[in-house]
Amino acid sequence: MTAELLSLVPFEVREPVSLAEHRQALARRAAWRLEDAPAEVVIRWAARTFGARLALTSSMSDAVVIDLFAKHAPGTDVVFLDTGYHFPETIGMRDAVAATYRGRINVVTVQPEQTVAQQDATHGRDLFATNPDGCCALRKVAPLDAALAPYDAWASGLRRDESFARSITPVVDWDKRNGKVKINPIARWTQDKVDAYIEKNNVLVNTLLMDGYASIGCFPCTRRVSDGEGTRDGRWAGTGKSECGIHLVSSS
Ligand code: SF4
Repeated sequence: MTAELLSLVPFEVREPVSLAEHRQALARRAAWRLEDAPAEVVIRWAARTFGARLALTSSMSDAVVIDLFAKHAPGTDVVFLDTGYHFPETIGMRDAVAATYRGRINVVTVQPEQTVAQQDATHGRDLFATNPDGCCALRKVAPLDAALAPYDAWASGLRRDESFARSITPVVDWDKRNGKVKINPIARWTQDKVDAYIEKNNVLVNTLLMDGYASIGCFPCTRRVSDGEGTRDGRWAGTGKSECGIHLVSSS
């Protein structure tokens, strides 16, 4: 039944609306209303709507969205997935963020169920080389989904200009897999706008960004990019894979 038809049905004879349906409708309305809103307005709306049941995820490439949350949604939990395959620079960035923003945001480190050594023993050595989708499912998707269980909504720093796959990223989305509202407050930002924000606000960046990397993930699956390559061309290069699976746009 369409929404228009549903509005004609007397309330008392409607099917009960589940929490997931309620959240999905909320996401759809907010996506329309906030499409052109500045990032800080989107973040303040999310903080007002979800309170402590809102989390931000970060890959620790830069602290732009963390800085925005510290200013406009202080106290938010920032979930960092420690896959066991991070560059030392990324772990250092995580620690620098935690120290710099102490008291304003809470860095929560999440780890997969198995260590890399345990995974090697169970699934074979270097699963990232033989089955990267399986490796991401175990080391990224499953631990993130478990970590998001206490929250109603989560946010990320996804941007439309990062790749073709991300070019339709809504400012507010519906995360069907987790049944949560997904917020992408800088979805419409360009790289130039990100760089200007970093400069103006003296925001922390991962030192790998100054060493030829444009997007930072696990070290076995990330390489430097050359002039003319896209932001995410250094991720899973040559495999045809472009996403780990945690950021699938669901188009509510
Ligand atoms: S990015 Fe590579 S190493 Fe990291 S979880 Fe995915 S496949 Fe494994």
